[in-house]
Amino acid sequence: MSKFELAPLPYAYDALEPYIDKQTMEIHHSKHHQAYVNNLNAAVAGTDAEGKSLEDIFANVSKYAPAIKNNGGGVWNHNFFWSILAPKGEAPKGALAEAINASFGSFEDFKKAFTTAATTRFGSGWAWLVAVNGKLVITSTPNQENPLMDVAEVKGSPILTLDVWEHAYYLKYQNRRPEYIENWWNVINWNHVAELLAKAK
Ligand code: MN
Repeated sequence: MSKFELAPLPYAYDALEPYIDKQTMEIHHSKHHQAYVNNLNAAVAGTDAEGKSLEDIFANVSKYAPAIKNNGGGVWNHNFFWSILAPKGEAPKGALAEAINASFGSFEDFKKAFTTAATTRFGSGWAWLVAVNGKLVITSTPNQENPLMDVAEVKGSPILTLDVWEHAYYLKYQNRRPEYIENWWNVINWNHVAELLAKAK
């Protein structure tokens, strides 16, 4: 039976310095993300989730054990988060920039709304930009939930996310989540976000 594995980061641990520091990236990927992978493999073993894709599990996640939701979300959300980061973020352009303007008025208004969602998510969780029936919507989820799950308040195709668990920023920013969020805007892989939007249902 194939098992879930930790994929290598698509860049070096220090690639997002100074905005996201090397030590945080290394612990986040090699310890936290690895633990979700290990715990997910243990949680699905011998259940009817074994061998299923995470997307298939998420569509009916409320029927599975909490450990499968928590660790499955932990694996998928981090894979997705690494993919939308890049050492040198530029600005959204083309169809992505147009979609942001159409949904939020301007990039500045979008940035403000996304920052509010990320800042006000109580405790551990994620902020998301999601494509829903051709519109872009900002949402946030608790713990390791995501918009692909049947339990999500807003369901759709994620095209951007931000991890606001303390483990994502505490070493460098301590309790200053807003400063972490503000710096994160410098390391977004907008080309990949644009690809995700083009493929979104
Ligand atoms: Mn995390």
